[in-house]
Amino acid sequence: MGDFHEHVVFGFLAAAVTAYFMAEQMALTQLELFCSGLAVVTGSVLPDIDHKKAYAHRAAKSFCAVGSGITIIVYLSYPIHVRFILAALAFLLVYIGFSSIKFKHRGFTHSLSFMFLSTLAGIGLSAYFFASFLPGLALGVGILSHLTLDRHFKIS
Ligand SMILES: [Zn+2]
Repeated sequence: MGDFHEHVVFGFLAAAVTAYFMAEQMALTQLELFCSGLAVVTGSVLPDIDHKKAYAHRAAKSFCAVGSGITIIVYLSYPIHVRFILAALAFLLVYIGFSSIKFKHRGFTHSLSFMFLSTLAGIGLSAYFFASFLPGLALGVGILSHLTLDRHFKIS
């Protein structure tokens, strides 16, 4: 239940409710606001990464494949033409690998365990990069809004 747009809209609504109740404790900087907004959207569509036709799945596939290629070009210290060949290989491997993974739709990524793990990881990353836990929390709010819209609450 719920397509891409519904999940994003519902994610923003969930963020609005959360922000309303937390307004007292919050004095957000522009950066925190921007990252939290992005994190809410990411979280609200992230669980559908296990759905082959879902936008989140296709976006993650392209992002990982392109990202691995660019990482190789930037960080390896081979001659540049070798790096481009390795980047092409990495791109293909990741792209094909991602396509061949058999996901069970509404499996692990639609569970409360996934929500807690992602939220913890998000809080760790955002605390490290932005000295703020709010984007990580926003990710959790986004995922929770997705599970709510899908009416899917299981532990694992
Ligand atoms: Zn879903």
